[in-house]
Amino acid sequence: MRVLSENPYAVRLAETLPRVHERMARAAEAAHRSVDDVLLVAVTKSHPLDAVRAALDAGLTHLGENRVEELEEKVAQVGREGVQWHMIGHLQRRKAARAAAVADLIHSVDTERLARRLSRVAVERAVEIAVLAQVNTSGEETKSGLAPGEAVEAVHRMAELPGLRVEGLMTMAPFVRDESVLGAAFARLRELLEALHRAGAPVGRELSMGMTNDLEIAIREGSTMIRIGTALFGERVQ
Ligand SMILES: *Cc1c(COP(=O)(O)O)cnc(C)c1O
Repeated sequence: MRVLSENPYAVRLAETLPRVHERMARAAEAAHRSVDDVLLVAVTKSHPLDAVRAALDAGLTHLGENRVEELEEKVAQVGREGVQWHMIGHLQRRKAARAAAVADLIHSVDTERLARRLSRVAVERAVEIAVLAQVNTSGEETKSGLAPGEAVEAVHRMAELPGLRVEGLMTMAPFVRDESVLGAAFARLRELLEALHRAGAPVGRELSMGMTNDLEIAIREGSTMIRIGTALFGERVQ
């Protein structure tokens, strides 16, 4: 085993992780929430294996990747014991089975067709696949996700597919700095989840929202999972 300080990511995390924890704690306190109700998913995408090892050594057990290939490579290296792998990026239908084989939670189910494909995979393999439905709360065309206007009915149908366990919703904030716009996008996701529960949809309570620049606003609006890359590992190289 190598000395920790030889891994530049371990050195960096020793500085950045306490800061992220502090930001989470303050945001939770301001929102009168328990910080224990907000899961930190460390996004290691585009960072080398050293980042994954440093994260695990630092006690981070939930790791996020946005490409199936990179997720598979990292899982092959460090395995699944003691780690929960989160697939957070856009998933093509033809890679659905591969993603389901290595991810513990797929955050990015953005169409009913993808949900049906995952359901078929689950039934064939006699497993349950845990997912979040991604909603395009900002309406930006570059972002994937269900349109908010159709999300309640679509997610309700997804949640009734065999083999699929819909644990909640996920969204990406718009690329703006305006806090009221960000807050409105996150509030919208929370309201959609509330509408699903009122409609009796068998959907869980997770709200995956909040990244490096907007985690405080997301926690204020009820986030239960924040996905943090840059604040932990620095700028991505690619
Ligand atoms: C890259 C990525 C993140 C992490 O973003 P940062 O701003 O670096 O914290 C979160 N969610 C998704 C879906 C991503 O692709």
